Amino acid sequence: MSEGIIVPGEKLGTEEEFAAGENTYVHGGMMYSTVTGVKTLKEGVLSVRSVGREVRTVGKGMRVLGSVVGDMKSVIFVKIDNINTDNKEFVAIKDGKIVMPKQHDAGRFQRRGGPYEGRHERMREQPKPMRPCGIGDLIIATVQYNDKDSYALSLEGNEEGVVYAKCEQCNGEMDLESGRGGLRCRVCGHTEARKISSLYNKPDEIKKLFE
Ligand SMILES: [Zn+2]
Repeated sequence: MSEGIIVPGEKLGTEEEFAAGENTYVHGGMMYSTVTGVKTLKEGVLSVRSVGREVRTVGKGMRVLGSVVGDMKSVIFVKIDNINTDNKEFVAIKDGKIVMPKQHDAGRFQRRGGPYEGRHERMREQPKPMRPCGIGDLIIATVQYNDKDSYALSLEGNEEGVVYAKCEQCNGEMDLESGRGGLRCRVCGHTEARKISSLYNKPDEIKKLFE
């Protein structure tokens, strides 16, 4: 990359410093480029003159690659990577989220049955709700809805799911756990249940998928 060339998604400055011009967008007060090009500043308006291919933004139905950055009870937050291959260039202008199906409220469910008898035993038996992916995982997902503030992502499909993960206990690399559909840490043996992509740890095939 030669000096002075701006790439899609590159930070250009803050909204307070400049007005957003052509081929730029603002997210969270920061201004970014949507194209490969050269930065131009005229009368306080910052634009990027495109020198490359036309760039499109990520939209509904597209497959994306992203990292899990947050995990709340009902929503998993995903930072989506820009897709940039020889043939395609797509920019994600928003973050993604995976909305989790509602879990049964164990306490309320129990109370309906009458006295609290046996409640603690029952509660202990509740399995830990399975999370399809964890913080730090690299995932493939499909854009289900293009919402105002985010992309709603789905992990349904063979290729969709976790493609790379590190152990949450020791940061070691996770391998596929044979026969059980989960992941096992190469270093400490810690296991995790995940929604795993058929392309887990296959960087070449992942690259091919986005070409
Ligand atoms: Zn480990």
